[in-house]
Amino acid sequence: MSRPEGIREVDVLIVGAGLSAAAASKRLVDAGYETVAIERYALPRNKPCSGIISPRGHRFLIENFGPLPREILHEPTSCQGVTFHFRGMIQMPMDFDYGSTPHLNRMNSDYWAVKQSKVEVHDRTRLISLENRGNHVEVLAKQDKEDVRYRARMVIGADGTNSQVVCSLYPGYRQSINWFTVRQYLHEIIECPLDRRYFHFWFHPGLGYYTWSHERNGRQIIGVGHKAGDKLTARHQKTIEYLEKHYGVKLKPTEDKETVVNNFGLSLINRYVFGKGNVIVTGQAAGFLNMIAEGMSCALHSGAIAGEAAVEAMRSNADLQSVYRQMIASEVRRCSDQWNPIKILFGRPHEADFREALSRLRGRDKRKVIVEILKFLYPWGEYNWGRQMVMQALIRELRGNYSPSRWL
Ligand SMILES: Cc1cc2nc3c(=O)[nH]c(=O)nc-3n(C[C@H](O)[C@H](O)[C@H](O)COP(=O)(O)OP(=O)(O)OC[C@H]3O[C@@H](n4cnc5c(N)ncnc54)[C@H](O)[C@@H]3O)c2cc1C
Repeated sequence: MSRPEGIREVDVLIVGAGLSAAAASKRLVDAGYETVAIERYALPRNKPCSGIISPRGHRFLIENFGPLPREILHEPTSCQGVTFHFRGMIQMPMDFDYGSTPHLNRMNSDYWAVKQSKVEVHDRTRLISLENRGNHVEVLAKQDKEDVRYRARMVIGADGTNSQVVCSLYPGYRQSINWFTVRQYLHEIIECPLDRRYFHFWFHPGLGYYTWSHERNGRQIIGVGHKAGDKLTARHQKTIEYLEKHYGVKLKPTEDKETVVNNFGLSLINRYVFGKGNVIVTGQAAGFLNMIAEGMSCALHSGAIAGEAAVEAMRSNADLQSVYRQMIASEVRRCSDQWNPIKILFGRPHEADFREALSRLRGRDKRKVIVEILKFLYPWGEYNWGRQMVMQALIRELRGNYSPSRWL
């Protein structure tokens, strides 16, 4: 870590040092542009995450950063797929296309990817504010309580959920979207019959909006998620009792827990945030989140596109926003297709075969699964996303793209 004297001038300043930042950095450093990434925490930093990456994200890591070292993986080191659970003990295991994917330890994997990108990182450096000034951006950050200033031709906001880049550009944004809270509890295992090769997800409206479990380093994670302000402790207790009663899961009391807020929903309704002027936004800060909250592969791909857009805009002296917004449309299609009801019913937007898994069930169970999914979706009605999703799905069918006019 170094503290720049005076104002540090760079071609591109990246805010964040997660996977989207690593991917953007890789493109910029490879193209020879002076790039600095600032990260609010000391690296390697903790990142609450299940660490299950899609096959596409796995390929991106290998192709861009090389073979994955053992220390960036948790135990079990791989994940074969996802199992959906429904009331009545109906289970639908779905394997990932092309085989298992790595079970990433986000503290080490993100640090590894950032180091592999060869970007200069200033950690313990938190973005406070930024200002577009025509042909450059003035940035104020704090490093160990001291002000640090940067002047960058361009800035990439890769600072995840609750992005300060987004809030600096759009005051009032935080109050304008829906927030969710997710908490994962770690338990020592007494007995756990859940198949440890899979990530488990429950379609059970009584448990919560997002209920999951998987094994990590000999501990079982029980995760619960609901709208911000909900009592997650009670949901966790209910889930523990449910899993013990129905699956025979026996766990010791909670050893540790991690809570995070989440800007879930933006990719469902095509409400991405891509920035203003010479500041672009990428990864989860922009709203990218795939089905089952898989955000790593879209963070990597959108981050790389942000880096490429900055390179292209600097090389051809073009408007950064226009270049980025054109280039990012492919990742918007990828991500929003995963939530698009037409694509889910008639296409194959995911990297595990839901329809094939459904076809393996008996007729009665198939019908029950459909009814249970509808019951699970019912409480989401309060967000009024359904009509927007259908409209966006129709536009996608007619025009081949999601409407860019909905992006900020
Ligand atoms: C409980 C949980 C489980 C999840 N499980 C999975 C999973 O199994 N698979 C999957 O693919 N996805 C999962 N996700 C989602 C995934 O973690 C994110 O989508 C992904 O990490 C987004 O990457 P990113 O680079 O955009 O942002 P992040 O990984 O959030 O990185 C942003 C970085 O910016 C830094 N930062 C933030 N603010 C500032 C600031 N003001 N100044 C400087 N730095 C700043 C942060 O410290 C962080 O290092 C999960 C998320 C949660 C909450």
